[in-house]
Amino acid sequence: MTAVNVEPGRCGENWDSCPHLTTGETFDFACAGCGDCCRKRRDLVLSGYDLYRIARRLRLSPRIVASAFCKSYVADTTCLPALRLTPDPKTGDCRFFEGSACAIHAARPLACALYPLGQSIDTVTARMEYYVQTPLCGARAGKRTLQDYLNDAAIPDREGIDARWAIVCTQLSQKLQAAGGQNNPHFSAAAKRTERALYYDYSLGDEFYPQFYQNIEILMPLLDRML
Ligand code: SF4
Ligand code: SF4
Repeated sequence: MTAVNVEPGRCGENWDSCPHLTTGETFDFACAGCGDCCRKRRDLVLSGYDLYRIARRLRLSPRIVASAFCKSYVADTTCLPALRLTPDPKTGDCRFFEGSACAIHAARPLACALYPLGQSIDTVTARMEYYVQTPLCGARAGKRTLQDYLNDAAIPDREGIDARWAIVCTQLSQKLQAAGGQNNPHFSAAAKRTERALYYDYSLGDEFYPQFYQNIEILMPLLDRML
């Protein structure tokens, strides 16, 4: 399976051996609000939609949010530009963790909304799979299913965008790698232009998806000319 993973881990966790769940399976979990998943986090990788939602919540442009709260980098394996939400350098906690709550709760990134789940998206079929951290944090919730949990976290509302994001990122990665990746003399300019299309060229007054679609329609032939 060609898959893109959303891994919401804390430092030191290993998600490779976590059990997978289907949506109809019992998921006996209720968040206890301890805040541990916001402390000592690995840097969270954001999608363009994550950044757009945070930017709307903060009423700042995506680029300003990225420069204030994120680190931009090119992933070695995919050659794709990406953004990580960086933790507080002194505490290691997320910088949106205020008191004992998330200051951007309604706009929290997908990885946070999923926690303690991880998500894997098949980039051919767009099928999603979920896996769960063990040992499980929180309280036991009785007979609820994974689908109940996903509904409460509003994950289905964004699944279409998240699946499309994973598929487009895979296509872009393949294009950049086929052109020689970072060995291509024009890679740096191409990566910057790709970063713009994925993360920054969005008006907060308009819906995300049509802008994403248009950005990629413009980007793909442009990359063919640049590389
Ligand atoms: S964005 Fe919110 S939920 Fe996610 S780690 Fe930061 S404080 Fe926690
Ligand atoms: S998801 Fe788990 S670690 Fe995070 S606040 Fe809820 S119980 Fe605590």
